[in-house]
Amino acid sequence: MFAVGLTGGIGSGKSFVAQRFAARGVPIVDTDAIAHRITAPNGIAMPAIASEFGASFVAQDGSLDRARMRTLVFSDETARRRLEAITHPLIRAETERERQQASGPYVVIVVPLLVESGTWKGRVDRVLVIDCSIDTQIVRVMSRNAFTREQVLAIIARQATRDARLAAADDVIVNDNLPLESLDARVDELHRLYASCAGH
Ligand code: ADP
Repeated sequence: MFAVGLTGGIGSGKSFVAQRFAARGVPIVDTDAIAHRITAPNGIAMPAIASEFGASFVAQDGSLDRARMRTLVFSDETARRRLEAITHPLIRAETERERQQASGPYVVIVVPLLVESGTWKGRVDRVLVIDCSIDTQIVRVMSRNAFTREQVLAIIARQATRDARLAAADDVIVNDNLPLESLDARVDELHRLYASCAGH
């Protein structure tokens, strides 16, 4: 099925915009939700994670000990790559399965690290970037996650720059203080475009 890859920095409004497409009957595949599911209790990534990193990274309920893993991969680039070598192929396979099962005019795949992780751009038919200023990201994420300004800036520093994302975009939604009516008008416009690209 024709697939739109939806991406953007943390707090840009990816989930918010994806919901506006979902409200139009578009199936959404959320790679973050898949990443979470494969590392939930009895998730399909857990046996490989346990054998690669040890039982201390598995919580009592059989899920990933997220806090422990986050601390490790934040300071250890090699560990992050070892983890991704396990999770990324599984996320890709699950995404592909959901894409094939989805029914609708086209599918929107939400991929936070589409630009950073290289292979995604070739797996989708079109890239939609949700763009906003760093100031907007800081305000949104501080209130959503109760993070400090420094924590938000540290996450942003590890992600692709706005320019890198915009360079990869076929379409852009500029989502700074965008009223819902304006957002919906833009989503309607893109929805028509994608449906016609998909042959509907
Ligand atoms: P992301 O998924 O990119 O991290 P979210 O979609 O969770 O970001 O958006 C971050 C926060 O900003 C959420 O609380 C969301 O409801 C809010 N938000 C994003 N865009 C808008 C908008 N156009 N109008 C109102 N609130 C918005």
